Amino acid sequence: MIRLVIFDFGDTLFHGEDDSRAIATGKWEIIERDEHGRPSIVAPPSINGKVECTFPGVQEVLHELRWRGTWLSVASSADPEYAPCMIDAFDMGSLFRHAFMANKGDWQQNCSRKGDWVAAIIHDFNIAECQDEPLKPSEVLFVDDLMRCLKAVANRVPGIHVVMSLARGSNGLRYIFDVIDEINEESENV
Ligand SMILES: [Mg+2]
Repeated sequence: MIRLVIFDFGDTLFHGEDDSRAIATGKWEIIERDEHGRPSIVAPPSINGKVECTFPGVQEVLHELRWRGTWLSVASSADPEYAPCMIDAFDMGSLFRHAFMANKGDWQQNCSRKGDWVAAIIHDFNIAECQDEPLKPSEVLFVDDLMRCLKAVANRVPGIHVVMSLARGSNGLRYIFDVIDEINEESENV
């Protein structure tokens, strides 16, 4: 039974796009909202012509997972001075616990530390929200768009479930429900 899903950021939940509506106003601006009024496209404060977009269904799926009681976290090697502000701009801060951003200087395309970050996130849950019933690695799912990151995490945390991000498909992040259902059905049959 999956109790915690840990996501990568770039190309897993979000992707950048060219957009002339981004005019570098000095603060994060909401450009578009989804049908529930949640931000789906935001423009950064100081970059002209670029926006950050959620993949389809990201806000809806993350809120649904939290509503079901699934814990959510983030292990990201995105720029630590940018990504947390972007999460605030999307108004997603309350969804994630123990999110792990890269330290300044070690964020560029290096997945070697993601295994350590995922292990640290699980530990943080187990001394906080989950101390009465600690998470087993088999109750955790890690999602990333890079195979080397999935490998680094699977090697560092034996027994964890990892899955390649499929959010570029037309269903966006909704595939994650099928992945979780399949893992849960399999674990019930053991
Ligand atoms: Mg990525």
